[in-house]
Amino acid sequence: MTQTEQKPTILVVEDEPTLIDTLEYNLTRQGYAVSIASDGFTALELARSLRPDLIVLDVMLPGLDGFEICRILRREMNVPILMLTARDDEIDKVVGLEMGADDYLTKPFSMRELMARVKAHLRRVRLIREEMEGGEAAADDRPPTAAALTFGSLRIDLDRREVVVGNEVLHLKPKEFELLHFLARNRGMALSRDLILERVWGWDFDGGSRTVDVHVRWLREKIEDDPANPLRIVTVRGVGYRFEG
Ligand code: CA
Repeated sequence: MTQTEQKPTILVVEDEPTLIDTLEYNLTRQGYAVSIASDGFTALELARSLRPDLIVLDVMLPGLDGFEICRILRREMNVPILMLTARDDEIDKVVGLEMGADDYLTKPFSMRELMARVKAHLRRVRLIREEMEGGEAAADDRPPTAAALTFGSLRIDLDRREVVVGNEVLHLKPKEFELLHFLARNRGMALSRDLILERVWGWDFDGGSRTVDVHVRWLREKIEDDPANPLRIVTVRGVGYRFEG
């Protein structure tokens, strides 16, 4: 990070005054610029106008609930969303993941844990952005046009929309490329089939989640050494898939 870099902006969407104070105090102390929304509609408005670097989003809110906010924002922006849920309920987690949340904390949570997650997500986004755009640190090492993700012998070239394994250029269909790119840029995260479907195929697509499985199978046949025992695109039981970087 350089000194000229701006403070990351965090939008906190929460309606409990005590928790708002605690979050604001702790996040500000960590050097973040904090904005607060205490109902769903304000949350949408601020998210659109501020374009925050991360959103901490409570599920139970007046107006729109957190799931609904998450679902709407996911269609508009790529911001990491950390949801706060009151119930330690598996259903909440699955629903939230399908809505496109990146992470969850169940109340009550420790501030230390929240800070660690916030930091980790901001770091992940920064690394991805640097890889996508050729960040400051990497600018000397690569030609300015070479936006690519590289994992061992696998290289996803975003400019050329080309995937190379070793020296071999693979022939991927457009959706296969988009799927691989989506998985790879969210590497290390379990992504639900519905989320993948929404982000790669679009909100209105009604082809069903089997579409995802079929495309994953095709991709595995192309990029995995042993498609029956995939090491790159692994299955997450009960959820979907995860890309291993
Ligand atoms: Ca609440």
